[in-house]
Amino acid sequence: MDTWTLDDARKLYHIDSWGNDYFHISENGEIEVRLKDKDPKSQVSLLSIVKGLQERGMKLPVLLRFSNILDSRIQHINESFLGAMKDAGYTGTYRGVYPIKVNQQQQVVEEICKYGKQYHHGLETGSKAELLIALAHIDDPEAYVICNGYKDEEYIDLALRGLSIGVQTVLVVEMPGEVDIILERSRAMGITPNIGLRMKPSTVASGHWTDSGGDRSVFGLNTTQVIQVVDKLRKEQMLDSLKLLHYHLGSQIPNIRDIRMGATEATRFYCGLVHEGAPMGLLDIGGGLAIDYDGSHTDSSNSRNYSTKEYCDDIVEEVMTICKEEGVAHPTLLSESGRALVSYYSVLLLNILDTNIFWNGEDVEANLDQEVLPALENLLYVRKMLNEKNAQECLNDLNYYREEIRNKFLYGKVNMRERAAAEHVYWSIVAEIKQSYGEVESPEFEKLEQQLSDIYYGNFSLFQSLPDVWAIDQLFPIMPIHMLDKRPDRKAILSDITCDSEGKIDRFIGRWEVEKTLSLHSLPENDDYILGVFLVGAYQETLGDLHNLLGDTNVVSVTYEDGKFRLHNELEGDTVADVLSYVEYEPKHLEALIRNKAERAVQDGKITPLERRRIIAAYTAGLRGYTYYETDQEE
Ligand SMILES: *Cc1c(COP(=O)(O)O)cnc(C)c1O
Repeated sequence: MDTWTLDDARKLYHIDSWGNDYFHISENGEIEVRLKDKDPKSQVSLLSIVKGLQERGMKLPVLLRFSNILDSRIQHINESFLGAMKDAGYTGTYRGVYPIKVNQQQQVVEEICKYGKQYHHGLETGSKAELLIALAHIDDPEAYVICNGYKDEEYIDLALRGLSIGVQTVLVVEMPGEVDIILERSRAMGITPNIGLRMKPSTVASGHWTDSGGDRSVFGLNTTQVIQVVDKLRKEQMLDSLKLLHYHLGSQIPNIRDIRMGATEATRFYCGLVHEGAPMGLLDIGGGLAIDYDGSHTDSSNSRNYSTKEYCDDIVEEVMTICKEEGVAHPTLLSESGRALVSYYSVLLLNILDTNIFWNGEDVEANLDQEVLPALENLLYVRKMLNEKNAQECLNDLNYYREEIRNKFLYGKVNMRERAAAEHVYWSIVAEIKQSYGEVESPEFEKLEQQLSDIYYGNFSLFQSLPDVWAIDQLFPIMPIHMLDKRPDRKAILSDITCDSEGKIDRFIGRWEVEKTLSLHSLPENDDYILGVFLVGAYQETLGDLHNLLGDTNVVSVTYEDGKFRLHNELEGDTVADVLSYVEYEPKHLEALIRNKAERAVQDGKITPLERRRIIAAYTAGLRGYTYYETDQEE
């Protein structure tokens, strides 16, 4: 009797720690997403969504987006700040701004503007292109558009013109030289700017993405430069335009202590600017609010040791304490949370295409060809002598004899069949040792777990869909979205379908440490085995590249409205022709080359005209196809 329960699955994959009430395992062993907070009717199984999409002809891999989750996250962050302010008696208010770079998709920005309107949630831009997006989408004079990044005249002009059509832009000075252009352009256009300063905090936070702080950060003004800018503004009689102080410690800050220190330092600067005579009013604390990707609730780089409530409470408290000491009125607090807003929004679903299994439990000596036995003598002898006491020694012997057989192969003394049998027997015995004596403590035994794990081939490209896994070893929760009422019987690492040896995932979330393998099920006989990669809404979509010309995946949005689930904003992923044209191939030209080549083959009598037609049809269908592995051929 297998004693596996759904609770075992919940524990194994830590879903209740990272799922944040959005994702959970249902009674029938599937992952459900809850689209509306505390509304059980808004729960839907991811597998049922996939089935619905497959009936409509859409293929895996697919990226699902959940609009309601964006709505819920915006509410969560705004209510947390407003709640913290109310509890503490803060007299200013809160205005969030969403940094467009975190996920620039039109739908994301549109939905943030829509759901955020009741809170006057604004946007943060880091380039001209993003400013153009913000100017078009923000429709709320009380929402801010914070203009960061390197600014030329055109960027500044656009921000100033925004003001004249009712968009509250703030030009944040990141480099001393920008002040001159801002002053010059605003005079020329007769528009009074809102000016902000970006300071370099000396607080350096720990974590992966936190290079923005410290003296050597590339953005922002050091203390001397802040004073120079203030003096210049005063001299030009423009100090009245200085409204905002901004800092950004970096993204995904795991430790609340760093966040507190950043807030303290910045509030001192803020008060210093007020004492200098600037009107101020706005303190922008940047991004950094982290996501608990591994559910550990620690200060590891994939987690955070605080809740959103603590984050807000602590910042509000720090700002109030310093303002009180300095006798300065409470500013309106802005924050630029991106990751915290959009991470939960998307899930990547991919099917497993194949597996490479090192040992499936069969007897080592079963099915061995009589002819190869002499060559295996030593290996099989090791197996005979194996017992608990000498497991480590046997492992060493096995390695020795395998090496010997490989050497003999090089000298032609062992043939290919013998060598193949030896490799098979070697791995089988190693697996046996691991299974029987796996608890033996030695570094080699620890390595075995990974060496013996299966490889599951997933229909996706790491470089396109999960670039941060490759670039900075980020962890995302990964698990099957169904079959969770059954015990996972395999341990595996994941490979993608790029032919790049880097295109693999071999680090997974564990309770206290990073796991080297992922528990998965043997592939079901006549069904897809589908994995979900969760919390991928921030940064992954647009950092991705066209490695091996695997393009954008299919995308579908799911919304729960008036008691109904709606699939919408279906975006077909890139076709092969699309990705080829990105690298300057002209599909029509490729087709013409094939037509000519096939015509010559007809002329030379190698193929018939009918065969030529089929070749061309297959080629053009290939150009129209999905860049990922397609399992069912229609048409
Ligand atoms: C990237 C960035 C953010 C977003 O940070 P998150 O940690 O994703 O919230 C905010 N502000 C600035 C200036 C940034 O560069």
